[in-house]
Amino acid sequence: MIIIGLTGGIGSGKTAATDYLSSRGAAIVDADVCARVVVEPGKPALTAIFDHFGEHLRLPDGTLDRRGLRETIFNDPIAKSWLEALLHPQIRDEMLCQIENSHAHFIVLVSPLLLETDQHKLCDQIWLIEASRNQQIERTVARDNSSPELVEKIMSTQLSNDQRRERANLIINNHGSLDDLHAELDHIIERLDLS
Ligand code: ATP
Repeated sequence: MIIIGLTGGIGSGKTAATDYLSSRGAAIVDADVCARVVVEPGKPALTAIFDHFGEHLRLPDGTLDRRGLRETIFNDPIAKSWLEALLHPQIRDEMLCQIENSHAHFIVLVSPLLLETDQHKLCDQIWLIEASRNQQIERTVARDNSSPELVEKIMSTQLSNDQRRERANLIINNHGSLDDLHAELDHIIERLDLS
């Protein structure tokens, strides 16, 4: 079994890459999915969040008001650190659990915070996907119908590609079309004998 950690900035193409890698037989463990799993109703993290921040974050169906939580921690570094200290170990445990339950020999662990957390320690190799700054902005705006300013603000909170590159074993070039990306991934799969 080989575990590849895939990371990259907002709109760099992580999901586009994992969608294709999945079609080529990889099992995908997605940090964003795991982050939702650990705050499902009945999970200890959800109870801790309601205890800490208040019951107003509980929606009528018992689930977490994620937008309300985002607003609560916005511009409040202490609240943000508290939440990260609560969730990051649980997200990592959920990822580990999904890895252990997978029977695939090629697992891709995709995470925007792979290098910022200790999630990278679960991986045999780090792959970084890159597009240009303008492509990241344009593609994210088109996908989310968000403003370029918001995307740029999120980018300013993330590691730079230079910082990521220092720790990557392989760089996936996503400056071309989706077909180009798929061809590059095919080439990598063949070169590393992952099929
Ligand atoms: P986030 O960190 O925000 O989750 P991401 O890294 O997963 O982003 P994607 O969602 O895969 O990025 O890509 C952003 C958008 O750009 C998507 O709508 C995707 O379909 C599109 N996209 C990705 N790669 C390409 C490409 N090479 N050509 C055209 N569109 C692309």
